[in-house]
Amino acid sequence: MKEGIHPKYGKAVVKCACGETFETGSTKQNLSVDICSKCHPFFTGRQKLVDTGGRVDKFKKRMEQK
Ligand SMILES: [Zn+2]
Repeated sequence: MKEGIHPKYGKAVVKCACGETFETGSTKQNLSVDICSKCHPFFTGRQKLVDTGGRVDKFKKRMEQK
C-alpha cells in the first residue's frame, strides 16, 4: 500500500443538529449532520413517524367519508 493514495482514515467528531456529538471513523475530522441515531425518528420510534401515521389516518377517514 503506497502512502498518499488512500485518504487518512481516523477518528472524526460528528456534531448533530440536536446537539448530540459522537465519534466515528472517517476521512474527515469534523462532520455535522442534521439527524443522528439519538434524534432520528427511526431510532426513537416517536415524533415524525407518529405524526405521519396520524396524517395518513386522517386522510383515509376523509376518503371514507366521501
Ligand atoms: Zn441528533
